[in-house]
Amino acid sequence: MNNLELWQSVLAQMQFHISRANFATWFQNTEIASRDNEKIIISVPNAFSKEWLSNKYNKPILKILREIDESIKDLDFVIKPQQTKSEQAKTIEENEKAEETQLRFDEFKINKDTNLNPRYTFENFVVGSFNELAHAAALAVADNPGLTYNPLFVYGGTGLGKTHLIQAIGNKICEDSKKKKVKYISSEKLVSSIVTAIRTNSMEAFKASLAPIDVLILDDIQFIAGKIKSQEEFFHVFNSLYEKNKQIVLSSDRPPNAIAELEDRLKSRFEGGMIADVSLPDYETRLVILKTKLQEKNADLPEEVLDYIAANVKKNVRELEGALNKLLIYSKINQSLDLETVKKLLKGFVFSPFDVANYKKIIETVAKFYNLEEKNLFDPTRRKEIVKPRQIAMFLLRRELKYSFPAIARKFGGKDHTTAIYAYKKILQENEENNKLTEEINLIKQRIYSG
Ligand code: ADP
Ligand code: MG
Repeated sequence: MNNLELWQSVLAQMQFHISRANFATWFQNTEIASRDNEKIIISVPNAFSKEWLSNKYNKPILKILREIDESIKDLDFVIKPQQTKSEQAKTIEENEKAEETQLRFDEFKINKDTNLNPRYTFENFVVGSFNELAHAAALAVADNPGLTYNPLFVYGGTGLGKTHLIQAIGNKICEDSKKKKVKYISSEKLVSSIVTAIRTNSMEAFKASLAPIDVLILDDIQFIAGKIKSQEEFFHVFNSLYEKNKQIVLSSDRPPNAIAELEDRLKSRFEGGMIADVSLPDYETRLVILKTKLQEKNADLPEEVLDYIAANVKKNVRELEGALNKLLIYSKINQSLDLETVKKLLKGFVFSPFDVANYKKIIETVAKFYNLEEKNLFDPTRRKEIVKPRQIAMFLLRRELKYSFPAIARKFGGKDHTTAIYAYKKILQENEENNKLTEEINLIKQRIYSG
């Protein structure tokens, strides 16, 4: 493995540990400058990057390097200023050659106008019962933007393909018609743009910049919860696009009615089109996803290895892809890959419900889901907004962890255990009758198991 391949392998793994934005910011234009056996020198474009990488990412980078090559003991960074244009031209050909052999880093190829990542297409999106409604709705929207479902609202747990799917809509529309203006914006970015616009008195200019858009894709809209000013401004942006039949696509970690602190008028706007969820793929679909990813990467792994991954990495699709990448990198250096090694390499990915769901996790997740502090769940109060989450926490302790009723009662401040039985039965029954509650419990469970 040469330095280029080695660094590509590090990048391939780093991108699963940090957000896309951070990855693009800190790892673009980095490479291995030199290596003297035990020490790797990484070149970075400027002093700022050097400081960040050495303070924040030194450890994880070294860890990944050592997993690939144990003889590496140390790491250092040097600044290598960017090349001038003409120097760049000279090396384009070299780079293109290198690119054919290296793993592709499309995070760096994000379209500057649309913010879309060309990697996310319908062609490489695997469909199964866990996402077929969302997929069908997305295709319909891509074929007839503004005319079928408006808005389209896709929700589900992390790593389940929301970003991939909603960007695929954008990519397809751009491909079908060069004239259509598509814009993908993360909700974090949207909120920060609105906040800046308010502060600098340039709200009108901000709105004007969005006016020509035909398709607005907003990722992780739950982020706008509790941000009153941003919601107000966004409401107007939404309306003016909607009235002109412009397509709006939204994603979120939960359905609109479960987003706390979201203005009612926005909630009803979000509910006015099509709402579709993505959930967890089953074993067969996980296998198909693995094979699709292998094909995309032009790589191969033995059937029994794929079977092991599909059977054991269940958390979400992102993890599935991470596990696959890790094995591919390993097999590139070591050729053969036996099952024992696979098990060792995938230790961190393999999922056991009892490792993940524990008392602390359930309390933490339920509290967070309902925007409460953990201690609120134990408040001796009959307030509805506390009683329901508390009963759900009790229900989940029983259901997921098989806690006894007296044990649950003890956890909740020595309450009589009939209170715990009552809570369990009540939620069990309501769960059957009330779709909204079922949905909330499913989302809470998804979070418990995917975090
Ligand atoms: P989310 O936005 O729901 O957190 P992403 O869209 O970022 O999830 O998906 C995480 C990773 O898993 C991405 O690399 C994506 O390409 C991949 N992925 C998710 N769902 C699918 C799918 N159905 N088919 C193929 N790849 C998928
Ligand atoms: Mg996403």
